[in-house]
Amino acid sequence: MTETHSAGVRGDSGPQVAELVASRVLDVPDFPKPGVMFKDLMPLFADGTVFGQVVDGIVAYHGRESFDAVVGIEARGFVIAAAVAYATGVGVVPVRKAGKLPRPAYSASYALEYGEATLELHEDAFTAGHRVLVVDDVLATGGTAEATLDLVERAGGTVAGFTVLLELGFLGGRERLAPRPVHALLQV
Ligand code: AMP
Repeated sequence: MTETHSAGVRGDSGPQVAELVASRVLDVPDFPKPGVMFKDLMPLFADGTVFGQVVDGIVAYHGRESFDAVVGIEARGFVIAAAVAYATGVGVVPVRKAGKLPRPAYSASYALEYGEATLELHEDAFTAGHRVLVVDDVLATGGTAEATLDLVERAGGTVAGFTVLLELGFLGGRERLAPRPVHALLQV
């Protein structure tokens, strides 16, 4: 494991927040399979001061009054979503992997490098016009985010924003999601 080099870092909330994220991410080569550089944000979650500053950065970027609910994508998105929700006084709605939700749910499948993944969201998650902030840890190819944003809209929500702690720019997720805006605290 090596710590990500933090000189000259950039992100949509400016270099200071980008630097904070960069200081608490570990690069794990060949996980979960050979050739993948896993961006491990557990050190960020484990540092109460930095995690709090990162959450404050997310809230400051969107504005406290700009969303009515926060969606977290299983599983690391749940950690971020719960903190943002608590900081702003709104609720958390989980987007889960297939088969985990107990009541009727919308489902969206998307292609992975090998095979397919499915995400689900309770059909009654939102009332019409609910403004929803979606959060996750890492944006890679954008398939996970695209499926999640579609689910939010199918359930009657309006996507108020999409935030990730770290964006792997070379994988083109931002372009895939366009014209929907992406807010990435750190871009690599
Ligand atoms: P994607 O659908 O390709 O944008 O992948 C994004 C989802 O997979 C997020 O929920 C991430 O948690 C996870 N992910 C993909 N690539 C990585 C990576 N290199 N490091 C950490 N998590 C990743």
